[in-house]
Amino acid sequence: MTRYNAWNVLKNGITGQKGWDRAWRDPQPKDSYEIVIVGAGLHGLATAFYLAKNHGIRNIAVVEKGWLGGGNAGRNTTIVRSNYMMPGNRFFYEHSLKLWENLSHELNFNVMFSQRAHISLLHSPAARDAAARRYNTMRLTDTGAELWDLETLKREVPHLNYDNARFPIIGAAVQSRAGSARHDAVAWGYARGADQYGVDIIQNCEVTGVRRENGRVTAVETTRGDIGAAKVGFAVAGNTSRLWRMVELGKLPIETHKLQAFVSEPLKPLLDQVVVFGVGGAHFYISQSDKGGMVFGGDLDWYKSYAQRGNLPIVQDVAEAATSILPCLGRVRLLRHWSGVMDMSMDGSPFICKTPVENLYLNAGWNYGGFKATPASGWYFADLIANDRPDPVIENFDLGRFSRGVNIDERGAGPDPKLHG
Ligand SMILES: Cc1cc2nc3c(=O)[nH]c(=O)nc-3n(C[C@H](O)[C@H](O)[C@H](O)COP(=O)(O)OP(=O)(O)OC[C@H]3O[C@@H](n4cnc5c(N)ncnc54)[C@H](O)[C@@H]3O)c2cc1C
Repeated sequence: MTRYNAWNVLKNGITGQKGWDRAWRDPQPKDSYEIVIVGAGLHGLATAFYLAKNHGIRNIAVVEKGWLGGGNAGRNTTIVRSNYMMPGNRFFYEHSLKLWENLSHELNFNVMFSQRAHISLLHSPAARDAAARRYNTMRLTDTGAELWDLETLKREVPHLNYDNARFPIIGAAVQSRAGSARHDAVAWGYARGADQYGVDIIQNCEVTGVRRENGRVTAVETTRGDIGAAKVGFAVAGNTSRLWRMVELGKLPIETHKLQAFVSEPLKPLLDQVVVFGVGGAHFYISQSDKGGMVFGGDLDWYKSYAQRGNLPIVQDVAEAATSILPCLGRVRLLRHWSGVMDMSMDGSPFICKTPVENLYLNAGWNYGGFKATPASGWYFADLIANDRPDPVIENFDLGRFSRGVNIDERGAGPDPKLHG
């Protein structure tokens, strides 16, 4: 595989760009594999990559019903952060952020990770006190947490509505190491990396059934024939309940909801950070892409669905939040908006766990925050599948935590819209 580096760019620049290899192959499915991962989104691809890289397992297929990265991987607003307080999330997401910091080098693929700071606006002394508790705790894991007063915020982010806001801004909680990355590049980088280790990424291959014998999965039935597997991992995000139904294991504590995202026409540099506004039921987050488009989103659509398209009331809701916090956006034209299907868990936290079926493993429940989790999710899911036991960092990311009363996230906002602001 040709490496991406300055020498090869120069060499190919003067020799007609003929020396590049395909980024990944388009293999025919084999009869069986040691491990089959269902879903070539970010989590499935990262899992395959770390299974190969960290655990030396090469006989792996990632099967995908559409094209790789065409699900939520290609539809999110790309915010990366690790601003959590409770130990379960704090250690997991901090590990993820550390992996993000070296990801372009690790994959030899520029994922355009930009640590431009994540700014949560504060609107009341009570919110500031809660943020102080959370951000001071974060400092224990060296996350780069800060609290900004109003003067600092005005200096760093001058265009917010400081004079006439419905919810006056009094300061901000800031994680300076947070930021964003290019979602497609992350999917492509992991796909290319996994392919280099010999992983078969099989697109246009929908899993339609799961064969079981003696309490074990023996094969997945797909639109391209049956594929045998010694171990199977589900990483299908919003489609998890559909796959779960195929193994007849009852109900999962997951609902599928839609989340929309929006991008404006390109503007000159306006916003150098990720800004989040959440108060009184409003939920809004915004950043500016390298092309200049304002990328933003808000709350979940207000009903469950597997359809990858959103509704107009949310467009209005998000537009109201946008103009209330950044009035200068009032005349900006919307270029596109779209939706993805979110696997919302009941406590807002994910699952990386074994299942009642011995050789079936589950990666799901990412809610609207799974992009930032990608590297750690792949890392720990690979470790779980390879060693058949959870790392202590993810020991509570299992289906039994509800009966044990475990609290992973201090807010624990599950699938209800308007609880996320
Ligand atoms: C609008 C929006 C904004 C978001 N913003 C952020 C953000 O700013 N920060 C953040 O951290 N997270 C964000 N997220 C969440 C994040 O995108 C998801 O949590 C994450 O992408 C989910 O993991 P994934 O990439 O593996 O899922 P997906 O990319 O959805 O991958 C699952 C794959 O499984 C495939 N599949 C499904 N069923 C089958 C089957 N039967 N057979 C074979 N393949 C199948 C699908 O086609 C899909 O490609 C956002 C999501 C959306 C929709």
